[in-house]
Amino acid sequence: MHELSIITAIFNIIEKVSLDNNLKTVHKVHLKIGKMRQVIPDMLKFAFDAVSKDTIAENAELLITYIPIIMKCKSCLCKFEVNENIYICPSCDQTDLEALSGQEVLVDSLEGDK
Ligand SMILES: [Zn+2]
Repeated sequence: MHELSIITAIFNIIEKVSLDNNLKTVHKVHLKIGKMRQVIPDMLKFAFDAVSKDTIAENAELLITYIPIIMKCKSCLCKFEVNENIYICPSCDQTDLEALSGQEVLVDSLEGDK
């Protein structure tokens, strides 16, 4: 399951940040996820509940901000946002593109108790 590998990566960060900040419990996890990851929010929450069971982040709430997919055309260097999986430069119709954003999986912040 795609979401489970994302959550496992996120969870490693949560554990490290909690340890660094002496958090005993984590209530809220603010995530930033690029739209290119195509995560299903319910699947992500389901995976999080499974992985966080019996840990300091058990029952924590996931708050997800999605980062738009921004591509740069390698031919004309224009930048544009990708919607509906259309990876074509709107100004010159080229498909040779570089991703500037949209692939992120980030833990933006944690809320918890010490
Ligand atoms: Zn172009």
